[in-house]
Amino acid sequence: MADLDVVVVGAGFAGIYAAHAFRSAGLSVRVFEAGSGIGGTWFWNCYPGARCDVESKDYSYSFSPELEQEWSWSERYPAQPEVLRYLHHVAGKFGLWPLIQLNTRVTAAQWDAARSEWSVTTDDGAARTARFCVMAVGCLSAYQVPSLPGLETFGGPWYHTSRWPADGVDFTGKRVGLIGTGSTGIQVAPEIAAAAAHLYVFQRTANFAVPNRNRAVDPEWERAFKADYRSYRQRAQESFLGVPITGTGRPALAEPPAEIQRTLMARWQSGGGMPFLGAYTDVLVDRAANDIVAEFMRDRIRETVADPSVAELLCPRAYPVGAKRLCQSDDYFAMFNLPNVTLVDIRSAPISSVYAGGLRTADSVYELDALVFATGFDAISGALNRIDVRGVGGVPLTEKWAGGPRSYLGVAAAGFPNMFIVTGPGSPSVFSNMVLSIEQHVEWIRDCVVYLGSHGYSTAQAKPSAEDAWMAHVTEVAYSTLFPLADSWYVGANIPGKPRVFTPYLGGVGPYRARCDEVAAAGYEGFVLD
Ligand code: NAP
Repeated sequence: MADLDVVVVGAGFAGIYAAHAFRSAGLSVRVFEAGSGIGGTWFWNCYPGARCDVESKDYSYSFSPELEQEWSWSERYPAQPEVLRYLHHVAGKFGLWPLIQLNTRVTAAQWDAARSEWSVTTDDGAARTARFCVMAVGCLSAYQVPSLPGLETFGGPWYHTSRWPADGVDFTGKRVGLIGTGSTGIQVAPEIAAAAAHLYVFQRTANFAVPNRNRAVDPEWERAFKADYRSYRQRAQESFLGVPITGTGRPALAEPPAEIQRTLMARWQSGGGMPFLGAYTDVLVDRAANDIVAEFMRDRIRETVADPSVAELLCPRAYPVGAKRLCQSDDYFAMFNLPNVTLVDIRSAPISSVYAGGLRTADSVYELDALVFATGFDAISGALNRIDVRGVGGVPLTEKWAGGPRSYLGVAAAGFPNMFIVTGPGSPSVFSNMVLSIEQHVEWIRDCVVYLGSHGYSTAQAKPSAEDAWMAHVTEVAYSTLFPLADSWYVGANIPGKPRVFTPYLGGVGPYRARCDEVAAAGYEGFVLD
């Protein structure tokens, strides 16, 4: 008999809720977490300026109305420390700490067909067996540092934003180089600029960013909002992004140009990426409509940045707006007006090497005291591929995914019975409000496990045919949009050698949930139950 019913890998939003959900269903569960604290992405990404780009009213669990009512967020967009405090509150409120083992990295998981159980090995040398293995490892947890020649010779400290020292870094009086201008780089840059003697921002690809218009939560608004929380959550579950936003419902190309400008400006003024990109129905599927929105955003950069040549360099042109994750910031572009900030174009003159005193590009040398990498992640599949996962016949998951990650519904993989992936490749995951998608997956997995037990089955395994059909659907939906036109982490383009496969499901949170529910109602159609 297995030691446990369920092993959960990772104690972020997904692992924390999984602990609660499985235990509440009467199952024995243990969560292994590599970090010294809970929180997953919110534990590791404690760089200055880290802030969620989904509003706090949405980026929170919905499973407990009591929790929903008792917790008060202080800001429209919560900063990293507040999200972490929230997760600590949840773990304490629901008595989850005894189920979570910190400082313990899962190194391997192997399916034992004879015993119908997983053998899970951790870096403390221990091995546990479990009937089910739930991978809650996060979509953006395998961070990457580019292999720059000479990095090991650099005389000063260097940091990756996703492994930021918990007690902070003092950049006072320092010359700092920042590599990476995605969501993270755009958040951390103004914070570094505020302290450093000089900040050099090394930009390879200019990025679009909309304002947050972050503000304190008004208690009156909160009271009124909370009175309607249940029906709001219902609307969120049925929505496209997991956040009920209201668009015009019309294509931009059918709208008079002046009206488009008015609509976009109103949304720009109220802040937030989802309502802005969701204003018109054709922005993410029609290049001409997309160009209108992109030019609107470039105009905002031009009117913010004083030096026209710097402004032009900051104007994104390499991809359709939205096809890479839209960044959010209230102060990034204005930061380039500060005398201690320099934008360096490493697209035209790439970084050639790092040396003890700084960094060389093809046409210049930059003397630096510290380097910051905001260079992103081996997304979606990276964290799983770093665990030695072996399914039926000892086949490694890395071998199955050599041509790119594949799964059925983004939650299970053929050849890997009783292994479930929370917000895995082929599910809405990063293209949705993650907390809502996590809850949906955890509840679906819990219901599947309970169904197996109550119907006399011990294993569930996705059929290869179901997986093939699902991945074909994921690809078809993606290629009906502008998303594949960008060299983004959505397609693995940021990792040298990673197969180019579009992995998030773009069919919408509501329709996706409906499909998952249909599969369950049909006795887990597409799975072999044994
Ligand atoms: P990212 O979007 O992948 O951006 C990485 C940046 O590093 C890009 O500017 C990239 O340039 C640059 N880069 C990578 N390798 C490089 C190299 N060898 N030389 C020079 N530049 C290099 O990573 P991220 O900013 O950490 O964001 C990842 C995701 O995390 C986001 O898309 C978002 O989903 C999530 N996130 C969310 C929030 C939030 O909620 N507000 C905040 C941070 C992150 P290229 O574009 O040219 O590749």
